[in-house]
Amino acid sequence: MKFVAKKPREGINVSDVHPLVEAGTLVVGLTLIFVFIALLLIFLIEIALYFVSDETEAELFADWLPEDLVAVSPADDRLYETQLLLDRLSSHWIDTPYTFRLEIDDSEVANAMALPGGLVVVTEGLLDKVESENELAFVLGHELGHFRNRDHIRALGRGIVLSLFFAVVTGNDVAGLGIKATDVTLRGFSRKQESAADEFGLSLVHAEYGHVNEAWRLFERWDSEQDSSPGIVTYLSTHPQAGNRVEDLKLLADREGWQVQGDVRALQW
Ligand SMILES: [Zn+2]
Repeated sequence: MKFVAKKPREGINVSDVHPLVEAGTLVVGLTLIFVFIALLLIFLIEIALYFVSDETEAELFADWLPEDLVAVSPADDRLYETQLLLDRLSSHWIDTPYTFRLEIDDSEVANAMALPGGLVVVTEGLLDKVESENELAFVLGHELGHFRNRDHIRALGRGIVLSLFFAVVTGNDVAGLGIKATDVTLRGFSRKQESAADEFGLSLVHAEYGHVNEAWRLFERWDSEQDSSPGIVTYLSTHPQAGNRVEDLKLLADREGWQVQGDVRALQW
């Protein structure tokens, strides 16, 4: 039999599928693979972080500041007084692994947050809203409650987790990573975490003053004012409804037999 060489048919190396469709499939496929790897990393590292001890965390984040923090001047009166108050409250938490640092963010939006390494950030907007030291003490105490329950570590996700991953891989310092506070606090906490933080916070306030008078006064005002200015919305977007919270705090004080009357201290600025 004689071999007859046949010419290959035209366009044998050209796919029948339109090139744009092929390119699209490739892009979508690769994107899905990358998203999957990123999600897997976030998941695995969140689990790993859960086993990082408080001491390691305190050490790792000792000098860290979030990249999106707009810090007020170190000479600011309110910074000095609020740090002192934070120190007084945390002194009732015996054996804490943290040295608590306070920073004031120059923002009109009222908020307070607990960040890795014992960093507590309050905003100028929040300090403008509090009317007594006792009100501020409870807000700070609540944030200390998040450290105590390690909620802030559980909240480490997304940006911060990937940044940490690259820090570990490249051997870089955490402080130079440009991690933002919003990376940590974006998710907020569950209702259960919030009420546990409230319980611990109120116990610190009670230990400090011997009563819990005016501890929740700020939330009573917010509840009755029905104020929807952006500052309040933001604090409330990461914290429980003011009205429910006041009710729960009253019940807690009653259950613990904590005095609800007592001298209220004026703000020291
Ligand atoms: Zn909270």
